[in-house]
Amino acid sequence: MGDASAEERWRDLDKLLARPGNIVSPIFEPSPQLRDELGEYVRVLVVGAGGLGCELLKDLALSGFKNLEVIDMDTIEVSNLNRQFLFRIHDVGKSKAEVAARRVMERVSGVNIVPHFCRIEDKDIEFYRDFNIIALGLDSIEARSYINSVACSFLEYDDDDNPCEETIKPLVDGGTEGFKGHARVIMPGVTPCFECTIWLFPPQVKFPLCTLAETPRTAAHCIEYAHLIKWDEVHRGKTFDADNPEHMQWIYSEALKRAELFGITGVTYSLTQGVVKNIIPAIASTNAIVSAACALEALKIATGCSKTLSNYLTYNGLEGLHTKVTEFVRDQSCLVCGPGTLIELDILVTLSELIELLGEHPKLQLSKPSITHQGKNLYMQAPPVLEELTRSNLPLPLFDLMGRAPRGIIHATGFANKNGKRTSCLRKLRVVFKGAVDEGAANVDMAGVPA
Ligand SMILES: [Zn+2]
Repeated sequence: MGDASAEERWRDLDKLLARPGNIVSPIFEPSPQLRDELGEYVRVLVVGAGGLGCELLKDLALSGFKNLEVIDMDTIEVSNLNRQFLFRIHDVGKSKAEVAARRVMERVSGVNIVPHFCRIEDKDIEFYRDFNIIALGLDSIEARSYINSVACSFLEYDDDDNPCEETIKPLVDGGTEGFKGHARVIMPGVTPCFECTIWLFPPQVKFPLCTLAETPRTAAHCIEYAHLIKWDEVHRGKTFDADNPEHMQWIYSEALKRAELFGITGVTYSLTQGVVKNIIPAIASTNAIVSAACALEALKIATGCSKTLSNYLTYNGLEGLHTKVTEFVRDQSCLVCGPGTLIELDILVTLSELIELLGEHPKLQLSKPSITHQGKNLYMQAPPVLEELTRSNLPLPLFDLMGRAPRGIIHATGFANKNGKRTSCLRKLRVVFKGAVDEGAANVDMAGVPA
């Protein structure tokens, strides 16, 4: 391709970036150089290289992003090929992230995509800090929740509980389920985080075991009976493997027997797979629509060329076509993205002094609190085994227990009085140590040395 046609590829993008407008973001400075800056300085991580991830990588590459990375622990399966369009039959068994990265780089010149063939939890938290935007193409609530907590962990608040802008790590989240989909923008500290609106994802409906065992009414009931009850009865101790075709075949034939017994129709092999693996039907076009919306939001966040989605788009193509944007609000007391309660402490304050202080704190009045820091138990009131294990921390300075960082987050679980009732509650505390500073670590060390 000659230079002229290479430039031609960006014609529309250039129009978007070089012209002023009425609905641009306040930071937007239209300029023909904006595309170069976007390619040079903006780094985007795509989480997931499945149906949405493939689309996202392609869309971002074609929107002028040049520094992309993608993370996915999965390998390519035959059943992916109908919609995960970057993969071919000879790719089956290879890493999704690696193949997806290579395919997009082959097609879009100048883009660099670094693949990571691993679990999202395998990466250090610091790995995620490097990206300007994180785009999610996931199908699991747990994975979303994890990335959300990572992004929110970078967020810092000033002394007036306002989020510090430079610590905001934007997330763009896409999701699809059959004909339905959503795209959302999460600006931690500004718009609701995933946890603020966790109620949007209702818990999965599971069938009561008694229904499965005694009164099955649907094909799915028969399949779950074979899967959850019959398998263990027959194969004592042998773990069911949903990826093993022989295991699946066994469930299918048992479900079929069960269905015949109760005069139920509709048990098929593919339904068995669907129920057991909890497969959500995937439609390529829904992925394309949701991903396009996400890629556009990423472009807007990176360049300011237009206002961003505020903040949750739903797409429903099931009966006719409906789209709607809802502006959800933050949960101010969210334990993940909220500011928590600011507590200023001297670096010599011990854990037991802190615990006493929490009871007297006018806003908290937290009695008998247990304290954790970054998932580690500093002190647990119960059970007795844990209490005994953590008791030795009580006389130690909290500053030391928190790794001698000038500030940090701890969580306290205890009891508070609410409308005259003693209720258990969990609080997030933003601890700032007086006299401890980021730079001049020597100072901090000196101050920490007991006289
Ligand atoms: Zn939140």
